[in-house]
Amino acid sequence: MDGLNWLNRFVTETPGDDEIGGKPRQVPHACWSRVHPTAVPEPSLRLWSDEMAQELNLEMGDGDILGGNRISGGMDPYAQRYGGHQFGNWANQLGDGRAITLGEVDTKNGILELQLKGPGITPYSRFADGKAVLRSSIREFLCSEAMHHLGIPTTRALSLVTTGEDVVRDVLYNGNPAPEPGAIVCRVAPSFLRFGSFQIHSMNGDKETLRTLVEYTIKHHFPEHRSENDDGLIQWLTQVGQETARMISEWMRVGFVHGVMNTDNMSIHGLTIDYGPYGWIEDFNPDWTPNTTDARTGRYRFGHQAQIGAWNFARLLESISPLMEEPERLYESLEAYYTEYEHCNNAMWSNKLGLKELREEDGDLIQELTANLQLVETDMTIFFRLLSSLKDPSIEHLRYAFYDESTIPITEWNNWLDKWWKRVDGQPDREAMHSSNPKYVLRNWMAQLAIDAAEKEDYSVAQELYELLKQPYAEQPKHEEEWFQKRPEWARHRVGCSMLSCSS
Ligand code: AMP
Ligand code: MG
Repeated sequence: MDGLNWLNRFVTETPGDDEIGGKPRQVPHACWSRVHPTAVPEPSLRLWSDEMAQELNLEMGDGDILGGNRISGGMDPYAQRYGGHQFGNWANQLGDGRAITLGEVDTKNGILELQLKGPGITPYSRFADGKAVLRSSIREFLCSEAMHHLGIPTTRALSLVTTGEDVVRDVLYNGNPAPEPGAIVCRVAPSFLRFGSFQIHSMNGDKETLRTLVEYTIKHHFPEHRSENDDGLIQWLTQVGQETARMISEWMRVGFVHGVMNTDNMSIHGLTIDYGPYGWIEDFNPDWTPNTTDARTGRYRFGHQAQIGAWNFARLLESISPLMEEPERLYESLEAYYTEYEHCNNAMWSNKLGLKELREEDGDLIQELTANLQLVETDMTIFFRLLSSLKDPSIEHLRYAFYDESTIPITEWNNWLDKWWKRVDGQPDREAMHSSNPKYVLRNWMAQLAIDAAEKEDYSVAQELYELLKQPYAEQPKHEEEWFQKRPEWARHRVGCSMLSCSS
């Protein structure tokens, strides 16, 4: 990693903290604080993304660097300062409390930022320790790579290193803290700027820093929108809104629930970011959320993600308004979010059902389908995958998608299948269906099996899932029996499968 071409544009071009490291505190007017990762006793490289490495032109991972024990020449590590709305409430300064950026690498495919997640305390750690546990690190590593291979915009993972030290966590916040193995993931993205990176300056009335950060962002990440007036800002924000809408429609396509869509967890690049208490719906339940912290209100439940995306985007738009001569023009970008979402959502249903193109009257077909899917426990992934290969319109071929085959609403389904079959003339666009209805996704219990093994120092399950999920749309018959599976009964109420918290 020493041979890489390291850049440090963010720390050289935006205002930062005068102090290096230091205790958790408020850092007004800054976009970042220089900080060094905390040394760990025994860094050991456990998982490695060969594809990400290739993009960075890296042959081997250096456990010392990726575990935070050594800084290579050219790096100028920092923690970013940002704010955020958490569950609808403005929380003011948050920042990288458990993440440290090592620097940016100039690759042949553009400049990418490398960031360690879990390398110890920073000025933004508030009351916590800045560390991450193995369980959440495995979930982040596997899911970011799986999302990438599903074709969904996401931050990537390069490596997972165990630190050789225990970290104490109270998994369910119920007064039962216990030691767990610590780990650090190195993640990669064009930048880790979030909606909250802009909000913090705006909400605190620091127009100058806001302007510098916006100019920096457009110059380096959206150079086509550079302009001296409102036009450039609107074009930039419109692109952010469209990319965010696209990302969320992709989550809906595969049954992904982010779990903590706070504005500090919304990437300015429309990338899925901050894998915490995320989950995959198994039985099709739009009201489901994996996040126990959100169980009561369900703010971030599966079926509500598009609306929350708009709410979050509106907060970003508001935060840019001090820079606008005609702030009412920001509605153009909000409008663009909705238009893009509708467009993507239509394309998604057209592809999932092999309709070739969506017609006005297809609305009823889709509505009836989603209603049927909720009549009894029905596995979303298996249902759509089996539907993609259906030879004749009979529910018999879809039995495997139901959790209790004795309760299948046969009449309702056969009626719907008849309508769909007529609509597609018995010839659904199978290619579109097979490439938008994945066969394999990272179900919560699959990640948990990888975690259970890894906690016993066996990384073979994690490795197998990493490889399996590189081709989520391929049949892979030798893995079918094990992984093309509904949620097993043991996982129904198990912590880590049906219940997750932010404690990582
Ligand atoms: P999240 O909702 O997980 O994205 O985190 C919200 C905020 O809490 C961010 O500012 C994180 O950096 C911070 N945070 C979460 N976990 C820790 C931790 N273990 N140590 C320090 N800060 C943390
Ligand atoms: Mg976060």
